[in-house]
Amino acid sequence: CSFATSGLPDVRERTLIAIKPDGVQRRLVGQIIQRFEQRGFKLVGLKMLQASQDVLSEHYCNLRTKPFYGSLLRYMTSGPLVVMVWEGHNVVQTSRTMVGNTNPAEAQAGTVRGDFSIHVSRNVVHASDSVEGAKKEIQLWFQTKDLLDWDSWDQTSNDDV
Ligand code: UDP
Repeated sequence: CSFATSGLPDVRERTLIAIKPDGVQRRLVGQIIQRFEQRGFKLVGLKMLQASQDVLSEHYCNLRTKPFYGSLLRYMTSGPLVVMVWEGHNVVQTSRTMVGNTNPAEAQAGTVRGDFSIHVSRNVVHASDSVEGAKKEIQLWFQTKDLLDWDSWDQTSNDDV
């Protein structure tokens, strides 16, 4: 029989995770990063920044007509964000599960929002909602040179070890 490759996991899938200003202000950065590392995903990009109106209006372009859009932009510019790219098999969908329902009141305990927040307007974290969406968001927030392709030392042949 021939060797089938179609069932192999796509380990290169990537998603954009952002810790929102309330997450930074409440000192939740370490705990949130820990969850993604512990799950087994690989961090390939990370930066802390004050988001501009321009980038946010692009990031949330599908929400422009929503009544909460103005307060969402004020919230997202109220302090620095920690923006990250995580990589691994099924990372987009798994991250959405780990982050939990948009409305923390409906988020399961054990999810980031279910454990750390109570209101939809302060829900701590963003996670891309599709593989295509993730690609666009990663391009919006990161330059290609700032995403690092790296392997664990035990997965490479290294004469120095
Ligand atoms: N949001 C809000 N009020 C709402 C719905 C959404 O303030 O009634 C905010 C909230 O911060 C949410 C963001 O808008 O995370 C984007 O909404 P979306 O529906 O894309 O949810 P997400 O993908 O973040 O779960």
